[in-house]
Amino acid sequence: MRRAGATPGRLRAPLLRPVAPLHWGQAGGWIEAVVGSMFSGKTQELIRRLRLAVIARQRVQVFNHALDSRYAKNQIVSHDLAKVPARAVAKAKDILALVQPDTQVVGIDEVQFFDEAIVEVCESLADRGRRVIVAGLDQDYRGVPFPVTCRLMGVAEFVTKNLAICSVCGNPANRSQRLSTNKKLIEVGTGDEYEARCRVCFRR
Ligand SMILES: [Zn+2]
Repeated sequence: MRRAGATPGRLRAPLLRPVAPLHWGQAGGWIEAVVGSMFSGKTQELIRRLRLAVIARQRVQVFNHALDSRYAKNQIVSHDLAKVPARAVAKAKDILALVQPDTQVVGIDEVQFFDEAIVEVCESLADRGRRVIVAGLDQDYRGVPFPVTCRLMGVAEFVTKNLAICSVCGNPANRSQRLSTNKKLIEVGTGDEYEARCRVCFRR
């Protein structure tokens, strides 16, 4: 027997359940990953999020890798020269030892430079209630994904993939073209050695 007004084939409205309130920041933390190619504004986005946290009087600590000495040690700097103070560390585990008990937000720039332990470190900080914001390259100059960045994208609650603009054709670009012939996987440059390229204009 059909209920009056029921339409055959129409899905019944689901039972309305109260939506769980978001308690972000009270008990648990979380991980935000900001990834993309060079010139996609990753560090700028990281700095923007960190500054908003500072405005809200949250306690923020920022780390970068000791390899990333593009502009100056002990700060992170975007290509548009926005900067925030940061602690340069050589190993991922060093971060765990340096995060203060009352720190609420942890920012990490250029995560792809770090060893594999960075994933555990970020998870452990988030498990202990910290908001962890990481920024990094998702692909190397050959267009091969960085394993560390991919694993962080996998465990993060929030992933933002930034695109740059292709220097050749102007389309959205997700690759970093190395202009020099250097074959080192990690080359730290201020940008003259690279340009953003789309899938079509990228040369392996
Ligand atoms: Zn292009």
